Amino acid sequence: MAGYGLAVGIDLGTTYSCVGVWQQYRVEIIGNDQGNRTTPSCVAFTDTERFIGDAARNQAALNPQNTIFDAKRLIGRKFTDSTVQSDMKLWPFKVNGDMANKPMIVVNYKGVAKLFSPEELSSMVLIKMKEIAENYVGKKIKDAVVTVPAHFNDSQRQATKDAGTIAGLNVLRILVEPTAAAVAYGLDQKLTNSLAGEKIVLIFDLGGGTFDVSLLKIEKDKFEVIATAGDTHLGGEDFDNRMVNHFVEEIKLKHKKDVSLNAKSLRRLRNHCERAKRILSYNAMTTIDIDSLYDGFDYSGKISRAKFEDLNLDMFRSCLDIVEKCLKDGGMDKSKVHDVVLVGGSTRIPKVQQLLQEFFDGKELCKSINPDEAVAYGAAIEAAVLSGATDNIIRDIVLLDVTPLSLGIESKGEVMTIIIPRNTTIPTSKQSIRVNCHDYQKSFLFKVYEGERPCSKDNNLLGELTLHGIPSGLRGEVKVIVTFNIDLNGVLHVTAECKINGVKTNATITNDKGRLTANEIERMIRDAETYRAEDELFKKNIKAMNAYEDYAYNLRSSIRASCNLNPATKMKVENAIQEAIQWVNANRSAEAAEYNSRKSDLRAFFNSMIPSHTGIKIEEVE
Ligand code: AMP
Repeated sequence: MAGYGLAVGIDLGTTYSCVGVWQQYRVEIIGNDQGNRTTPSCVAFTDTERFIGDAARNQAALNPQNTIFDAKRLIGRKFTDSTVQSDMKLWPFKVNGDMANKPMIVVNYKGVAKLFSPEELSSMVLIKMKEIAENYVGKKIKDAVVTVPAHFNDSQRQATKDAGTIAGLNVLRILVEPTAAAVAYGLDQKLTNSLAGEKIVLIFDLGGGTFDVSLLKIEKDKFEVIATAGDTHLGGEDFDNRMVNHFVEEIKLKHKKDVSLNAKSLRRLRNHCERAKRILSYNAMTTIDIDSLYDGFDYSGKISRAKFEDLNLDMFRSCLDIVEKCLKDGGMDKSKVHDVVLVGGSTRIPKVQQLLQEFFDGKELCKSINPDEAVAYGAAIEAAVLSGATDNIIRDIVLLDVTPLSLGIESKGEVMTIIIPRNTTIPTSKQSIRVNCHDYQKSFLFKVYEGERPCSKDNNLLGELTLHGIPSGLRGEVKVIVTFNIDLNGVLHVTAECKINGVKTNATITNDKGRLTANEIERMIRDAETYRAEDELFKKNIKAMNAYEDYAYNLRSSIRASCNLNPATKMKVENAIQEAIQWVNANRSAEAAEYNSRKSDLRAFFNSMIPSHTGIKIEEVE
């Protein structure tokens, strides 16, 4: 078991990710190389290089087709899923479906078309978060708790776990985001001695891409989820899109130009809209100024907070419908809620806060925890607990989650027979006895679904399981026990067993459509290593190139500044320097060894030409 300081909590967000570690009796949220405590969940590919995080996002407007964000919206979903189909229309990058109906993202990397699965792209973000943590703790990190939205279904949780494996992480637990936030809240309350008795807390988590509401009961160290509800497709990006559409229409109307036809222009407009949205959380009015937005046309437009609210009011209100549903599912009257905790960047929107406060009859909302960091904060605590932390304040924490969707099997007539109802506390195990529907049936086929619709085909097919070798019998005579087991990660394991006459057979899900196979995961782990090595090599080459170029320029300025050199020598050295500078300009993608060797040659030439008594010294950057 790793030392607990080495197990991290990662909030793998739709738009931003965040990593934290429990050290010296507190959680440290770790800043990245840019000093930012959250890192864009963004990966970009160019002709020469791969970028992850801020570097990827910063070049997005110049390279929209190969800058991938929102992998979390694709993970664990099928290509034909209606949300995938509608999201695709808004993305500047291309997504194709593969033979297994899995979405695959198409990019051009180093001049070659490449296909990446959402798991692979998410793993790249996880690798970045892992590296950020490693730089901070100064050691390799292996163990992590990774968070997912509460309503993520079985396939999405499994796929997130696979992304962790590809990133070289041992995922100690997949934890749902609101529970993680509740742990952060719980610790905050404990530290301020406000956690007395039993508390009912509603976590309102409105992030960049998803919305989650959870109702929890906190009693000392026990965090029990009572109910959850949410929308996989509601968040800050949707509010950005509304503003983008508003400006696209306005530009069409006033300037007769259709910005939506150009991916790069659209991406730039979206970035400006996101910034404007943030400003509108503090100011009543803001301006968008974009030089050469489309066809050489400069755009300047204004938007007020009232207009922004008007554009999004239906979505803001739908958040409250979900809150209401969650309370109803949990059998809780809103007056019984002690605290409403705000999580996720979009909860900074004043109208969202106002509507929520009105819904809770004017109750003060709890803003004592940082909405951007609370999830990683809670995940870091859970990571410490799972890896054996003994600190009094956290060691006894127990988290009890619930299953977000009902799970069951298809019965005759395509009917969904529920085995584990939604909002059942997990881990859990439930059994159901099935009988044969035909005389002398040779095998049983079980189709496993999740969802709330009565007709199985309207729900999500998770996989199939076939039980062979059952005893022969007339219809209704052969009994099979199906067991559904949900582990701590919310991941489902199904087995079927026939006990007649001592015959005991069991099987597990075999046809888990859309999931990566063990071989694919293995291949992706190898690829991740190759990409990492390529990134390292690229950095090494660039470093050597810069060192050579800096050396040449430093040499030139020192020579020029020196008065005790004869003009002929000066000229010879200047020529050699000029040649070196020209060569670097023409060879920006050479290998480190070549730059290093040319630098040594230039140094040797300089030493042979310039006597040491001249006192000229050249600074070298290593
Ligand atoms: P999260 O997924 O929790 O990191 O939230 C990210 C989302 O919060 C993005 O859509 C941001 O644009 C949004 N956001 C961050 N700060 C603000 C703000 N001050 N006002 C409105 N939205 C914000």
